[in-house]
Amino acid sequence: MMRYVRGLLGVSLLILMVACEGPADNTQLLVDDDACIGCGECEEVCPYNAIEIIDGDAVIDPSLCHFCYRCVEQCPEGAIY
Ligand code: SF4
Repeated sequence: MMRYVRGLLGVSLLILMVACEGPADNTQLLVDDDACIGCGECEEVCPYNAIEIIDGDAVIDPSLCHFCYRCVEQCPEGAIY
């Protein structure tokens, strides 16, 4: 019985994590280069190291991005969408 409950909790947790991380399709977060000031706050807040500042602009690696949206929330310029 306990094994069943633990399994059920595990599956529920997995579903909740996927729901919180956003869509798992080909959607890609983009950076408005005109708005980006290269402050690097998005790079610092990204838990997946998916963002790098290159030539003064944030660049998102879609292969590493998990759509947690922390960068979107952190960006002072609203440059990530
Ligand atoms: Fe650019 Fe916003 Fe990232 Fe700062 S937080 S580097 S303004 S995208």
